[in-house]
Amino acid sequence: MSNQNLPKSVAVIGAGTMGNGIAQTFASCGVQTYMIDVQADFVERGLAAVHKSLGRFVEKGTLTAEVAERTKKLLVGTTDKQHLREVDLCIEAVTESVEVKTAVFREADAALKPAAILASNTSSISITVLAAKTKRADRVIGMHFMNPVPLMKLVEVIRGNDTSDATTEAVLAWSRSLGKVPVPANDYPGFVANRILMPMINEAAFALMEGVATREAIDEIMKLGMNHPMGPLTLADFIGLDVCVSILDVLKDGLGDDKYRACPLLRRLVAAGHLGRKTKRGFYDYSQAK
Ligand code: NAD
Repeated sequence: MSNQNLPKSVAVIGAGTMGNGIAQTFASCGVQTYMIDVQADFVERGLAAVHKSLGRFVEKGTLTAEVAERTKKLLVGTTDKQHLREVDLCIEAVTESVEVKTAVFREADAALKPAAILASNTSSISITVLAAKTKRADRVIGMHFMNPVPLMKLVEVIRGNDTSDATTEAVLAWSRSLGKVPVPANDYPGFVANRILMPMINEAAFALMEGVATREAIDEIMKLGMNHPMGPLTLADFIGLDVCVSILDVLKDGLGDDKYRACPLLRRLVAAGHLGRKTKRGFYDYSQAK
């Protein structure tokens, strides 16, 4: 099934958590997809994650074995950035660092077709700053997918200062054709999702630090009281406490307001190397978890 409202081919730069989810999503909708990373073993790890996820969907009966097989064929994992020349859309999902992303944006801008759109999946870096490193600022946009990408419906679509209406319309239409719900936002620090989420997580950390309640009580109150699927401290462990601190720093610097200062307890856990689920310890201990 190829969909006219999708690009013919896509490159996703970065085969990590988000990159492989984004690549899987496009390929499973019939799009020729190149997933590019710097090392062959990172590419292999990304492909293995996609294959595992497709297997789970087939087991659950939400995807046919034929579509899973077609998805695997359409998804090419590679370290060769030459493929950028072929695609209509490139989505950057590399490490959250201005330096790393700037280098990737410069390289992609030089390689892509003039008409191609260059998107970033950044959680917090300014789309306008990245666009200014290219010669295609009107065709640069934010496509902020949520984790896990194949399951989460939202794409926060961020217009940079010079993003054109045509680019925005194309990305909104493509996102809908992927079965997602795109929601537009403008380019201010943290956009909408993290502008609102991170202060909540930070406040939960302050409440814990000040002994307002236990970690379990804080999470339970927010779950049952606000109808959130998980409490803020559990969610912070899932996102990564280092990621939370770095987004809070972006909010504080970009908005120039101390109310976004990261809670000392968050910083202390990061300094200790307790980054959440990925290190098996954050606000909670996951050493016994599967
Ligand atoms: P990750 O660390 O899992 O993956 C990043 C990948 O980028 C790695 O495989 C790395 O090798 C690769 N990479 C680094 N430099 C590269 C280069 N020059 N060329 C090609 N590949 C390169 O990170 P992630 O969690 O997937 O996050 C990626 C982006 O998505 C970040 O901007 C992050 O802020 C954003 N994001 C993350 C989440 C989340 O929950 N993890 C949610 C939304 C957005």
